Amino acid sequence: MDGTLKSRLEELRQKLAAASEGRYAPPRIIAVTKTHTAEEILPLLSLGQFEIGENRVQELMEKLPALHAGAPENEKFQIHLIGQLQTNKVKYIINDVCCIQSVDRLSLAREIDRRAQAAGRVMPVLLQLSPAGEPQKGGAAKEELLPLLREVSRMPGICVRGLMAVMPIADPSPEGQAWLEGLFAETRALFEHIREIAPEGVRMEELSMGMSGDYLLAARHGATAVRIGSALFGPRHYPEKDGAANR
Ligand SMILES: *Cc1c(COP(=O)(O)O)cnc(C)c1O
Repeated sequence: MDGTLKSRLEELRQKLAAASEGRYAPPRIIAVTKTHTAEEILPLLSLGQFEIGENRVQELMEKLPALHAGAPENEKFQIHLIGQLQTNKVKYIINDVCCIQSVDRLSLAREIDRRAQAAGRVMPVLLQLSPAGEPQKGGAAKEELLPLLREVSRMPGICVRGLMAVMPIADPSPEGQAWLEGLFAETRALFEHIREIAPEGVRMEELSMGMSGDYLLAARHGATAVRIGSALFGPRHYPEKDGAANR
């Protein structure tokens, strides 16, 4: 990796601003910190990067004490849960995350609703879509999205704030990239459509799409947040098993 964390973050911010070309506001960065230690993550705070994403509950719980202990009094990370989430793990994170981005099925939403209500909070969530129909990465199929939204929007412990998508790995050829770009455009269109028809109580304001390999395409197509790991921290310290993992 070239440069410091600071210079990489600044470069990403500049590129994102340039890529959105005035058509959309540049997306926020969610720094994906999986496999990296609290020691590596904490410097983000002094760079004004407060939003981070973790994809595994176990790993998040192990890091939390050090993240809290190392942060100054008035500065706290806002932690997004971005990975596939097992229903039985919801209880461990219900008080620690600012958003669960990977809600892709009713059983998971029901458990979040139940735990959030018991904790006296309303949990912001994104519904996860699988743009290319890759169920192994999590995410609901396009046709499942509206029925899921209708059910979830009625849950008092949940506030739907938008959509999250994990794109497929595309071939670097022009054809592959055009296909990927089409998926980003389709996802943005679907987001806008749902925003128009959204049931009461749903605030369609977040479109979380784009990772280290495709954040510029995501910015061009109206992502409001990109989730960036390796372009910020370098390669992961160890391979992962699940989710977007295999990218
Ligand atoms: C790991 C991960 C990312 C970030 O991946 P990079 O390619 O390292 O930027 C984004 N989203 C999800 C859901 C992930 O699991």
